[in-house]
Amino acid sequence: MQGKWGLADAGFDYNMVAVFGSQSTGKSTLLNRLFGTRFDVMDETNRQQTTRGIWADRGTDAMPVLILDVEGTDGRERGENQDFERKSALFSLAVAEVLIVNMWETMVGLYNGANMGLLKTVMEVNLQLFGASREGRTLLYFVIRDHVSPTPLESLAATLRKDMERIWDGLNKPAGLEGARLGDFFDLKFTSLPHKQLQPEQFEAAALALRRQFTEKASGEYVFRAGYKRGVPADGFPHYAQAVWEKVVSNKDLDLPTQQELLAQYRCDEIAAAALGPFRAAVDAVRPRVREGEIVGELGDVARAARGQALAAFDEQAARYHAEVYKKKRAAFVQTLDGELHALALNQVKNAQTQAADRFASESHAALEDAAEKAAAEGAVSPQLSFSAVVGGVRRRVTEWFGGVVAGLEIDGAGWSLAAEARQLEATLNATTAKLRVAEMERALEQLRKGAQDTLGEVVADRLGSPGADMWPGVMAGFDDAVQQAEAQLQQRMDLAEVDAADQRLRLVRALQRGVWECLVELLREELTDQMVLLKLRAALEDRFRYDDAGLPRVWRPSDDIDAQFAQARTAAQALLPLLSRIETAASHVLPADLAAGAGPFFPAAFSAERSLTLISASRARELAKRFGREADALYLEAKRSLVATQNH
Ligand code: GDP
Ligand code: MG
Repeated sequence: MQGKWGLADAGFDYNMVAVFGSQSTGKSTLLNRLFGTRFDVMDETNRQQTTRGIWADRGTDAMPVLILDVEGTDGRERGENQDFERKSALFSLAVAEVLIVNMWETMVGLYNGANMGLLKTVMEVNLQLFGASREGRTLLYFVIRDHVSPTPLESLAATLRKDMERIWDGLNKPAGLEGARLGDFFDLKFTSLPHKQLQPEQFEAAALALRRQFTEKASGEYVFRAGYKRGVPADGFPHYAQAVWEKVVSNKDLDLPTQQELLAQYRCDEIAAAALGPFRAAVDAVRPRVREGEIVGELGDVARAARGQALAAFDEQAARYHAEVYKKKRAAFVQTLDGELHALALNQVKNAQTQAADRFASESHAALEDAAEKAAAEGAVSPQLSFSAVVGGVRRRVTEWFGGVVAGLEIDGAGWSLAAEARQLEATLNATTAKLRVAEMERALEQLRKGAQDTLGEVVADRLGSPGADMWPGVMAGFDDAVQQAEAQLQQRMDLAEVDAADQRLRLVRALQRGVWECLVELLREELTDQMVLLKLRAALEDRFRYDDAGLPRVWRPSDDIDAQFAQARTAAQALLPLLSRIETAASHVLPADLAAGAGPFFPAAFSAERSLTLISASRARELAKRFGREADALYLEAKRSLVATQNH
């Protein structure tokens, strides 16, 4: 219907005309003249009736008019035909703004011949079905055909008007409308046409003049008045017409507002569904890319365009329907659109969040590394740029980029916002910053520990190379120096990294101290393997036994008390073992008890002061003493043998 008429987009800018009258009174002929329609006209020569029914057509291009032509039978077959005639007339009256009541001049004043009886029935039922809620009045336009008598139109009209008033007075009016007047529901208008066959030229001229009343808005006689509108947009007319027809056929009470609401719901849903098609197509085209984590730059534009077009398409058609229903349906439609767009936007924001966080972490890391390398190249221990200068620059770039992604997705008027997601990124970046700061401090600790290792390596090699009473004070003095130096650098690094909390700074100092301490212990243990300890004991023994106090090699003479000398040297060497077995910290400012404090970040391993102080366990010491004893015995025997040899010569 819509396609054929081409009125789907006409909105309210169309009119409804129907025709009422006895068979073969030239109704179709008139309609074709007035509207350029092609309704079947009875063939003069063949007087055959066309198929019964209500026929619809539209006016020529310039005329957005829907015209209903009723085709019945000539009243030859009564009963069923009469029923159809009544129903079709009732239908025509219900939907038409202008109902052309067509009759021969000769019928004026004849109740039966002019079908006035049918008109009365139709008006009565119309009032019962639609009366209380009737929207729009109806123009009953009496067109008197074959006006050949000298009786002026005015008197014919007066006769008909009187008939109509009489009919109206005789109607059974429904409750509440007892006092209603004909003029409350109907306007009456009258015209007449010359005889088509007898005065063909006059007929055509009059028909043309009448046509202008239906086509020329400027004409003072223009028939379509705003008050006749039914409030049904053209695209909804098929549904509306069907509903009215069903009511007419079933003759049930028809509540027009309800009907209009139902119609509005039905049509709004249809219109929304149609508008959703292109919207979904546009959104579906980009969705897979978003799903895969891509930041789709044009997503916001696509979303806004699709949403705008869908709403415009909806509004254009749906706005004509029942205002309340339209408003509700529109809100629901907006919700549907925005729901899909929000999900898509969220998906993209999440992707951007992930990317921003990743970028921030990796770019900050690289920038910090760069800064450290540059500092190293310039011979500085600490980076020259502060942590926040390096990380802050990256953060600004990343946040700006993310802000751009979010801003690009905002839609004016949408019932959602991405502010929460924007805040989420801040929290993520804060956490990452904290992690980066920890990593930066771990890097600092590691660097400083390595720096201390070099210093301590020399101290350990030097002091343990000639073990003695002043060994541990010397080692610990070296340790204190290394710690002090590292601490000073650590303070600088903490300033650069903006580690401000006093407790955090203290933790880091402790961690550094422990790190340097453990470095020392490690160096000491490397220095005190079984072989090394034995070497040291043996060197000590030989120093005393084989060399005299002036440092010259002894040549044993028979007068020498080898046994006493040997026992003395061995005792002195053996005394080194307990000295080497345990670190003496008395001279140090850093107490192992302090080092035990601290766990968690910066303190990777559990720590026992006692265990770290012990370099050679008691059992290992016993084993080493035994082995040293054997080596000493060998040395003693060798000395004895050399003495025997000298005596023999
Ligand atoms: P409808 O279908 O009953 O509306 O009537 P039609 O338009 O089919 O016309 C029936 C017959 O009346 C046709 O043969 C027409 O040529 C003829 N007719 C049409 N208009 C007029 C008219 O104004 N005067 C006369 N006398 N005949 C007409
Ligand atoms: Mg006809």
